Amino acid sequence: MTTIESVEPATETVRARFDPHTNADVSAAIAAADSAFRSWRDVPMADRALRMHLLATVLRDRKDRYARLITTEMGKPITEALAEIEKCAWNCDFYADHAPEYLADEDIATNARASYVAYEPLGIVLAVMPWNYPFWQVIRFLAPALMAGNAALLKHASNVPQCALAIEEAVRDAGFPPGLFGTLLLSGADVEPVIADERVRAVTLTGSTATGKRIAELAGRAVKKAVLELGGSDPFIVLRDADLGAAADTAAKARFQNAGQSCIAAKRFLVDAPIAAEFEQRFADAIRALRVGDPLDPETQVGPLAREDLRDALERQVAASVRMGARVVVGGKRRAGKGWFYEPTLLADVTEDMPVLTEETFGPVAALLRVRDADEAVRVANSSPYGLGAAIWTKDEDIARALARRIESGSVFINGMVASDPRLPFGGVKQSGYGRELSSFGIREFVNIQTIWIGPASTPPPAAHDE
Ligand code: NAP
Repeated sequence: MTTIESVEPATETVRARFDPHTNADVSAAIAAADSAFRSWRDVPMADRALRMHLLATVLRDRKDRYARLITTEMGKPITEALAEIEKCAWNCDFYADHAPEYLADEDIATNARASYVAYEPLGIVLAVMPWNYPFWQVIRFLAPALMAGNAALLKHASNVPQCALAIEEAVRDAGFPPGLFGTLLLSGADVEPVIADERVRAVTLTGSTATGKRIAELAGRAVKKAVLELGGSDPFIVLRDADLGAAADTAAKARFQNAGQSCIAAKRFLVDAPIAAEFEQRFADAIRALRVGDPLDPETQVGPLAREDLRDALERQVAASVRMGARVVVGGKRRAGKGWFYEPTLLADVTEDMPVLTEETFGPVAALLRVRDADEAVRVANSSPYGLGAAIWTKDEDIARALARRIESGSVFINGMVASDPRLPFGGVKQSGYGRELSSFGIREFVNIQTIWIGPASTPPPAAHDE
């Protein structure tokens, strides 16, 4: 039984230790969630919404405490942690307000006296979640899942157990029925029997592509719905007519927010040859201006990486790319002293075969590659195995709209930074996964889309065979 440890990334100090849950604990949590689900599914939507608004209030009331927990447990700057809690509260309010409309019955004209689609809950949804947005990733799935009438269990990343327990506390204090939502303190390897349990009806993962393959295999074996939000290597395309000042400033935010540990961070900067030198200089200046340091200091913009192994992996990717000819413009090494810091880094003269381009870089490293024109930018953008988000910078909106349709990704942001928003669907294609979160699409992932047909039929149905 390996202890689950919470280690502060800025100081490398162990802050808390937990024994993982036993088989008996897990069985009890599944039984409690199943039992709570059976009554929760019949609770009117308006009453579910009341609880969800209360959860938003609880999060806002405890914003400082929860944000500090995020920062000390995974290292992001405190200002970003505070914004994360605010966004969670927004998402709770959003689904409390919109779930009734998203899940309302939909009449469909057929030969029946009446026919319609109803959206019914599935049961327990298991969420396997990552540490990089330890509150947001959970609330993003949880608010729609509970509003749809489901129960939920969380297996959070092993380096953020205190955040996992704090979310459980917030949900309990918002007055949701006991057991409806629970946290399982487990290692990744111990998730298999939970997915196999027949009371668990679906699984959602946000994590790496390797874990996605494993979860999809387990869900497939048990014939269960899965949503996979996996890795990304988003292109950030800058065309020759772009507003270079705005593009460079946004690039710095899009790459270095959360110390670069975001699936939708811009990772590959594909820059039109005629403006490549000027963009490189502006981007480098913006990177040099970033304030790196103690993540609890409100002035800090870039904190440490969340775990030592993540910094080691990043260092290997940079070293290999430099050996292959990449030029270090800014940074390029770890920071001396305590804490898993890595200097914000810009690599130029990057080619398509280098690890910083072929692999996902989950840290503060930007890779800049020159392209001949927009067509080459699209080709390089699509050469990645990933397809999560993409950004295009140009003043010609018609060109941007046309290029956007050719890019293989779940979203394209034109003259802006890729971001999640409760109002818009979020997800990927290719190795970035499948299914969608947020908006009406997200809440309909974990429901039974049920057809109701009421006779008598007015005319014979068009096809007279059964399947
Ligand atoms: P990870 O290793 O895949 O971990 C994510 C979660 O999966 C953790 O809870 C982890 O538990 C669990 N897990 C690991 N191996 C497992 C297994 N064999 N079976 C079942 N569960 C398992 O991901 P990470 O490296 O910590 O997180 C970064 C990755 O997540 C990046 O690739 C990033 O792009 C991706 N991500 C995607 C999105 C998105 O929305 N698309 C958002 C954020 C992050 P343990 O911690 O106990 O190992």
